[in-house]
Amino acid sequence: MSMNNVGRPTRPEASPDAVNDYLHPTLTGARGLLQDEALIFELNAWDKTGVDLPDAPPADDLGDLLRTAPIGLPGLSEPEAVRHYVRLSQKNHAIDLALYPLGSCTMKHNPRLNEKMARLPGFSDIHPLQPQSTVQGALELMDRLAHWLKTLTGMPAVALSPKAGAHGEMCGMLAIRAAHEANGQGHRKTVLAPTSAHGTNPATAAFVGYTVVVIAQTADGRVDLAALESKLGDHVAAIMVTNPNTCGLFERDVVEIARLTHAAGAYFYCDGANFNAIVGRVRPGDLGVDAMHINLHKTFSTPHGGGGPGAGPVVLSAALAPFAPTPWIVNHEHRFTLVEEARGPAAQAFGRMSAFHGQMGMFVRAYAYMLSHGADGLRQVAEDAVLNANYIKARLSDLMSPAFPNGPCMHEALFDDTWLDGTGVTTLDFAKAMIDEGFHPMTMYFPLVVHGAMLIEPTETESKQELDRFIYALRALAGAAKGGDVERFKGAPYHAPLKRLDETLAARKPRLRWKPVAAAPLAAE
Ligand SMILES: *Cc1c(COP(=O)(O)O)cnc(C)c1O
Repeated sequence: MSMNNVGRPTRPEASPDAVNDYLHPTLTGARGLLQDEALIFELNAWDKTGVDLPDAPPADDLGDLLRTAPIGLPGLSEPEAVRHYVRLSQKNHAIDLALYPLGSCTMKHNPRLNEKMARLPGFSDIHPLQPQSTVQGALELMDRLAHWLKTLTGMPAVALSPKAGAHGEMCGMLAIRAAHEANGQGHRKTVLAPTSAHGTNPATAAFVGYTVVVIAQTADGRVDLAALESKLGDHVAAIMVTNPNTCGLFERDVVEIARLTHAAGAYFYCDGANFNAIVGRVRPGDLGVDAMHINLHKTFSTPHGGGGPGAGPVVLSAALAPFAPTPWIVNHEHRFTLVEEARGPAAQAFGRMSAFHGQMGMFVRAYAYMLSHGADGLRQVAEDAVLNANYIKARLSDLMSPAFPNGPCMHEALFDDTWLDGTGVTTLDFAKAMIDEGFHPMTMYFPLVVHGAMLIEPTETESKQELDRFIYALRALAGAAKGGDVERFKGAPYHAPLKRLDETLAARKPRLRWKPVAAAPLAAE
């Protein structure tokens, strides 16, 4: 009988058929407390409503435009609507449910204090077109957030308006392009990126009009300096490097990378999505970085996943600061103004990143997180994130094969799939089996430079107890894989509402429109 880490049996019976016995189909499609749930349109009660509305007055003057068929919106009573959405929510994984080890994503706990602050009416009930004199508090908060971001990174300027990491990359690359053009260097059309780069880096460079050239990596997972030098030249506009990189390793030669890049007349773009691993300990400005986005939704705990808004402010060096996009905030001793148009000395601004000023709700949450941690607390964030990843690496390395076994990692532990050789189980199978054990899978098959990669980022908000639960599950699964229990993996996930989806087909041929199954009389949408 298999026992969990507190010594309780995990299943009544651990026979080879246990999985199938346990999954004996129910009569209703429910699985215990998890109810089966139809689409809201399939609940199909068009004439029902959760509110009482007075009958509409006759609309004689609409002539031909009067609707002749029902509108086709589903009708639910209040309790039905509540149950529908609660049931749907139970089909999702959530950071509030369990550890969410998706590497490079920093799925950390979102402190509830942040939410409380973001809901203060002075922040949540304002409009971007209000007169500036009526939103002085919001502008002051943005100014203070900008101050913290500049202080933590050691950079002189920040553009707050980009709305995600990738949007921030675009902002930084547009500033780099504007600076080259202003300096008579517009012929530079190449951007260098290492093989381990996050996919957004080459995508951004291409989107901004550059050709991407890849730089090789060393055997220990860092940028190969000789390869970099051989690719630099008068045609190179910038290098894009993530630090710590996507192998979870600190680029030891980062200062030399910056020096070589600058000597070739190019700018150094640092992908700062992994800033949570070094915040409070390393200032990217001291490393020679010219532009770096910061994902507030990663490092500073604002919610993400499920399509919620992010925020990707970009810090800029003195060389790039004059090209920062509008708007920015000017602090005139207790009075704050937003500069919306680039005139006079600011005329080099390359334009705007978005219609308004950025994600106010995220600014408030990130600033609340900074204030509640303080400078020492933010330093501890980085230290705990790195400690937690190394704990996982140390506890799993006897069973799974770390991609870079020598030396510690930063905030994420990276394994390859050599340890699965001969088991018949793949990285994908292993990840799917994790869903059955109640965990979101780690990042799979990325970075591409590591075969069958499994990238685990625990973040600093997990306690040792939670890490031990996770490690227990992974060790048990690794034992099952090595013990020949292939069935457990090939059919996984057994317990999820949907099994293995054809993700490629879903991406290539998305079916985005629901069509009624029954011949319900519906008007066109
Ligand atoms: C998350 C991430 C990005 C992209 O950030 P988004 O907010 O998802 O656009 C870019 N680079 C790295 C290394 C990341 O981890």
